[in-house]
Amino acid sequence: MIRLPFRDGFYEVKPSKIICLGRNYAEHARELGHEVPEEPVIFLKPPSALIGPDQTIILPRKSNHVDHEVELAVIIGKRGKNIPREKAMDYVLGYTILMDITARDLQAEAKKKGLPWTVAKGFDTFAPIGPRVVDKREINVDDLEIGLKVNGEVRQLSRTSKMIFKIDEIIEYVSGIMTLEKGDIIATGTPEGVGALRHGDVLEAWIEKIGTLREDVIAEGSILC
Ligand code: MG
Repeated sequence: MIRLPFRDGFYEVKPSKIICLGRNYAEHARELGHEVPEEPVIFLKPPSALIGPDQTIILPRKSNHVDHEVELAVIIGKRGKNIPREKAMDYVLGYTILMDITARDLQAEAKKKGLPWTVAKGFDTFAPIGPRVVDKREINVDDLEIGLKVNGEVRQLSRTSKMIFKIDEIIEYVSGIMTLEKGDIIATGTPEGVGALRHGDVLEAWIEKIGTLREDVIAEGSILC
């Protein structure tokens, strides 16, 4: 069970699904060689991929290239279907950070073959979340610094204002396809600067006014000394 600090107590992270946006920052779409999309690109990560703060990302044997991605995550506060964008904020409980860890080599292979991204995105430990949930009434997420350091070195640095599709549009789009359940998580896409992880790396992802999410990295089958 993952519990994150929230208001005066804790929030239990228990989504029925994690919806992720692809290519939602123009510079990141470009670095992967894609056009900027005309409508949101979405995919799912399984809740079994979640880990809490200060845990360990495991690099699977099946991949030789696992990337970090830092993302602003929206926590859904109540069930909704076909939510118009003007009402979207009524369905938001708060915000946190999610790292959309990605086996980039397996994703590239899947893209080439026209196959889904489920394998590349779905390994256990590929969805670190935290360090806390911030109530939507306590924060304006329209223009916050977002970044990620590997071993103390800044690799990703941008602002949430550079998101192509904004949170209300994303909620309208996603809820037009699938019912959003209380507790669901929407990861809103990563800015540019994604890069490969190595055994022994320490990741620190931060978003201004939310905090810093720290994780270790190990190769599958090894131990961290
Ligand atoms: Mg992502």
